[in-house]
Amino acid sequence: MVMDDSAAAMETAGSATDRAATELTVGIVGLGLIGGSLGLDLRRRGYRVLGVSRKAVTCDRAVERGAADEASIELSSLAPADVIILCTPLNVLGKTVEQLRPHLNPETVLTDVGSVKAPIVEEIEPLWPNFVGGHPMAGTTEQGIDAALLDLFQDRPYVLTPTEKTPAGAVERVQELAIALGSKTYICPPDEHDRAVAWISHLPVMVSTSLFQACRREETPAVRKLAQQLASSGFRDTSRVGGGNPELGLLMARYNRDALLASLASYRDSLGQVISLIESEDWDGVEATLRQGAEERPLFL
Ligand code: NAP
Repeated sequence: MVMDDSAAAMETAGSATDRAATELTVGIVGLGLIGGSLGLDLRRRGYRVLGVSRKAVTCDRAVERGAADEASIELSSLAPADVIILCTPLNVLGKTVEQLRPHLNPETVLTDVGSVKAPIVEEIEPLWPNFVGGHPMAGTTEQGIDAALLDLFQDRPYVLTPTEKTPAGAVERVQELAIALGSKTYICPPDEHDRAVAWISHLPVMVSTSLFQACRREETPAVRKLAQQLASSGFRDTSRVGGGNPELGLLMARYNRDALLASLASYRDSLGQVISLIESEDWDGVEATLRQGAEERPLFL
């Protein structure tokens, strides 16, 4: 299920060409954690970055932080951009493209950073043929322009999900940017991306939040308080990914519903197996399960 095991996935790495860094103007829509971090990195690598966000205060802060050369609330300001990276929440990506397209020339390459790909590609491809679905796989539990970080994408996967209709030149252009960020690029079909990230990103968010919900239901106040006082690195690690931006988690579930439900059902089966092993005091079975996880996890990662 890991992307680089997929027959369709291709991995590349390398460094950006000087030509790309000096000549390209990159537009970014949505100057939050991901859009702001992309802007910081791309400007440092010599690209001219034009930003657009919903709030004027966010635009001012993005310029102040060095995440954009210029920023505005007007999508028309992106007319000179060669490549535009859409970094708004999943549910406004399509609407953004509809509002953006009267201002663009047909050569402009559009890409997005949405965490789910199939429904987004299906929505945007008919609106703008020069579009490549993308997903830089990096983040933190924070949000907004003040959470933007330099080098967020360094050594992290950056997935591109072209279809048979995507122009090869558009894929190359976006791949150049991803490589300039220091990312490892992977190419796979949108639905394979969605099934893979259901396992390694969306399922962990739901498992992590369920873990926290279960723990907070402890009925004896003294035990609950003690658990809180004793919670250390193990609980911190396992509950961390469920404690991020709720809007992002909700949109992942809405947009990747089928793949997420399939991975949750499989997880419920795994949990059920562990419960029956412990109920029946099958300690060999418990040990075998734990041993398999300990042996295979490092290979998987
Ligand atoms: P975020 O920090 O909340 O940033 C999104 C920004 O978009 C907000 O700061 C907001 O700026 C702006 N925005 C919202 N609606 C807009 C609109 N209609 N027009 C223009 N700007 C708008 O969220 P994020 O974590 O960067 O996520 C953005 C995208 O990245 C999502 O599609 C998500 O799936 C994807 N992604 C997230 C992660 C992650 O771990 N966080 C990882 C990979 C990909 P204002 O302040 O101007 O309102």
